[in-house]
Amino acid sequence: MKYPLENWRRLKRGYRFGEKTFYSDFHLGTDYIVPVGTLVFAPYSCEIIKSGNFSEGGNTIHVRFKRRGYGLIIMRCMHLSKMSPPGKYRAGDILGLTGNTGKLIRGAHLHIDLSRKKVQIKNRQNFIDPEEFFSQTKKL
Ligand SMILES: [Zn+2]
Repeated sequence: MKYPLENWRRLKRGYRFGEKTFYSDFHLGTDYIVPVGTLVFAPYSCEIIKSGNFSEGGNTIHVRFKRRGYGLIIMRCMHLSKMSPPGKYRAGDILGLTGNTGKLIRGAHLHIDLSRKKVQIKNRQNFIDPEEFFSQTKKL
């Protein structure tokens, strides 16, 4: 397995999972502070099932993969400057480049959130803490 970004452990974090932000009282994922144009990697073999530009998250991709102990996961990566096209990717392939697109942003970063099976914005219980997820699945 790879992490979605290089130097994962040492990267500066912005809002973390569950924290209050300037736009919400519960952050659905974790923000990783990286300059525009930083490579985003596939952590596992996966499929980009959706990509598009949204007013709040900017350029966003939905990446689907399966993990033991979790089942099907949808990982959203937001605020990208470039998105790889929908399709299948292997661990380590490039999924896009980070950026600062979208309204809900104050400076370049990568927002990652993880959902079980499908994204249900209003269902906080269905989101997984990315920090916990990536530190646990690394050991499997
Ligand atoms: Zn965020």
